[in-house]
Amino acid sequence: MSYEKVWADNQKLNKNEISKLKKDGLTIFDDIPHYAKAGFESIPKDQYMYFKYAGLTVQKPQDKGLFMLRVKVPTGILSDEQAVTLAKIGHDYGRDVLDITTRQSIQFHWVPLEKLTEIFDRLKKVDLTTSEAEGDAPRNVVGNPLAGIDPNELFDTRPVVEEIYRFFQDNPDFSNLPRKYKISVNANIFNAGQAEINDLAFTPATKVIDGQKRLGFNVKVGGGLAAKPYLADALNVFVVPDQVIKVAEAVTTIYRDFGYRKSRARARLKYLVADWGISKFEEKVLELTGPLPAAGHDEISGWNGGFFFGAHPQKQKGLNYIGISVPVGRIHSDDFLRIAELARTYGNGELRTVSSQNLIIPNIPDQVLDELLTDNIFKKFPIHPAHFTGYAMACTGDEFCNKALTNTKDRMEEIAARLDREVDLDVPVRIYMVGCTNSCGQRQIADIGIQGLKLRAENNQLVDAYELFVGGTLIGGGHFNERLKGRIRASVISDVLKEFLIYFKNEKEKGETFFEF
Ligand code: SF4
Repeated sequence: MSYEKVWADNQKLNKNEISKLKKDGLTIFDDIPHYAKAGFESIPKDQYMYFKYAGLTVQKPQDKGLFMLRVKVPTGILSDEQAVTLAKIGHDYGRDVLDITTRQSIQFHWVPLEKLTEIFDRLKKVDLTTSEAEGDAPRNVVGNPLAGIDPNELFDTRPVVEEIYRFFQDNPDFSNLPRKYKISVNANIFNAGQAEINDLAFTPATKVIDGQKRLGFNVKVGGGLAAKPYLADALNVFVVPDQVIKVAEAVTTIYRDFGYRKSRARARLKYLVADWGISKFEEKVLELTGPLPAAGHDEISGWNGGFFFGAHPQKQKGLNYIGISVPVGRIHSDDFLRIAELARTYGNGELRTVSSQNLIIPNIPDQVLDELLTDNIFKKFPIHPAHFTGYAMACTGDEFCNKALTNTKDRMEEIAARLDREVDLDVPVRIYMVGCTNSCGQRQIADIGIQGLKLRAENNQLVDAYELFVGGTLIGGGHFNERLKGRIRASVISDVLKEFLIYFKNEKEKGETFFEF
């Protein structure tokens, strides 16, 4: 019996599920050339959901035939030709704007329907894809942006990421999951893969097996943000790198076959893990994988928040990486191209994207590091950014996102710039802004999270407003930030934050942070 039959028999399926049974999401790639010829008006509204499988969202206002397009960048590693291709796509089709997302992907806006096949061709030539960058499928595999060069990694995770990416990518067995599905693979001891907010996470661990110390992973499942956030729970298993795929397949199969398909709101893996309990979930995983050793020694020893600013030696002697600040993750094509050129001239051409919406240039020899840093681009994109601007993040917001209630990127950038001018703090504070409860900007793990909403003013008009949340971290397994009472109008949000941060400054010890790096 097919698994489609199992779902249909056991659950009252939601509208999207019924559509997905009639037509697999990935078939949208066959339809796009026809729609492009017939024009945007030829696309029935009930087909918009399938565009997600091609990494596309119909951009607001929805009648203009323009799309937001997302490209996967597994563990954030881009080759020279991939980085240049992305910069040129931004220039040729995306009005010169690239956004770095919190899952290390690259996002474009204003992309016209009739140009999509050209863009897909360009991406394919450099082994990049938009496929399943959105939709009810495995999303971009996130991880350590320093994989392979990191003095703080247990081992190089690039081969594991590659194996997981190739296994799930466009795999028809896993292209119809209940909803989005997020995998993290990381061996950096400062939790660069942000394990706890992923559906499935592999974290660095060691274990003595048959008298030999083995390097591998512990496993966490069922994390996720949005309106009801959950921190991932640990399975009591240890896996060596070549067993990762077996565990990933098992967890994803369980999610596919038992995940909820009745309500979209409850369709994430986190609800299944919470309802079953971790022991039952683990039993089911082991049924599929066969026996695995119990969890090893957890090698995580803190959290870096996904920030890598400055110039630092790599594990390869004589080579360095630099972490560059890209305010709220938005960068113009010519700047991205210039950074790619510098990476080619001074490094090996690679660029790396970071979950904090920033960039890294790796593989810079000692002898040319100082010369590289004299380039003017670093005045605009510094390696030692101001504390608020450098540590601010923002989701897409109401410029392009259909779900957004407020602006995010422009407002966050303005607020951070003002705080940098007017509040002299000795430590950075991570402020993340989101335009709705979906939390694409990861506000729950921010020192200060800002979430947009609408408020009815005295004249009965709806105005932008925000709620504040404080104290989020992934240290020690994680703690989500907590809501402060009150709703703050957009017109005074920066005043309120300024007062709040001056209070923090006056009350705190020297060097005391919201969280430890
Ligand atoms: Fe859109 Fe909300 Fe996600 Fe922001 S958090 S990008 S507003 S869905």
